[in-house]
Amino acid sequence: MNTRELLKQAARELREAGVPDPEYDSAVLLSRVMDVPPLQLRLGFTEPTEEQLNRFRELMNRRLKREPLQYIEGKAVFHRQEYAVRPGALIPRPETEGLVSWAAERAERWFRTQAPGNAKPLSGLRVLDLCCGSGCIGISLKDMFREAPLELTLTDMSPDALDIARENAERHGIACEILQGDLFAPLEGRRFDMILSNPPYIPSSECDTLQDEVKREPRMALDGGPDGMDFYRRIAEEAPKHLKPGGIVILEMGFGEAEAIRRLMESHSAVRTETRRDEAGIERILLAEYEMKKQEKDTHV
Ligand code: GLN
Repeated sequence: MNTRELLKQAARELREAGVPDPEYDSAVLLSRVMDVPPLQLRLGFTEPTEEQLNRFRELMNRRLKREPLQYIEGKAVFHRQEYAVRPGALIPRPETEGLVSWAAERAERWFRTQAPGNAKPLSGLRVLDLCCGSGCIGISLKDMFREAPLELTLTDMSPDALDIARENAERHGIACEILQGDLFAPLEGRRFDMILSNPPYIPSSECDTLQDEVKREPRMALDGGPDGMDFYRRIAEEAPKHLKPGGIVILEMGFGEAEAIRRLMESHSAVRTETRRDEAGIERILLAEYEMKKQEKDTHV
């Protein structure tokens, strides 16, 4: 059977199994097995070998069971770069790129004001990626500031996620500190200029109704407690202890959570908050600013 016919049949099987993008997925999987671009496969001038056909069948069976395409491929694209992904960490989502862009704008501004003219910046910008998962937020931010002194810390509760984050940091040649623990637990007495986080934010009751593919992702990366807000409550309360004067927090949020999170942050000493919407028009990212205080011993202000 030539590749065109094979793809047609595979897409039909995937469609029947309820896979959202059957043509795309079947072409990606066959392309991976045969090492031929999807478009060329669609023309149907080639035939897979017996071995390629068997390998394709294996991958198709996984996809038919609704394993996410990115897990089968072992990679996902985020911020125009490839990240390793496995079932131990959430698959990076395009809406999270908005968090990275906002953090990059602030980092750029910070380095500019720290370094008048072309003088060397006075001190490093300390960035924390809390609940880092695959590490895509912190790593892609640091990647944009390779020449600048950005000191990155990644933390997560899950050792499996941290293994993936470590692999991604190495893959992209990013030096960072990686700590395991429950939210701020491994950060006793530490302060940052920027705390970035995409915490679990889906209400527990909704976790069972998610798309089959999302159910294959770690529940602990998704489940935000009864109202989805458990992590925001703890972040709002604990972040001020871990921020340097004038520090900021940037958070990704779930659908309909923005107003409540804004109030939480403002009731725990954030002096100003601002939100941005994602491509679907949902208030998705919140930035909270904290007071700019003069501190005698702190030269990083
Ligand atoms: N955006 C993810 C989803 O909708 C959830 C990510 C999270 O809980 N932080 O599947």
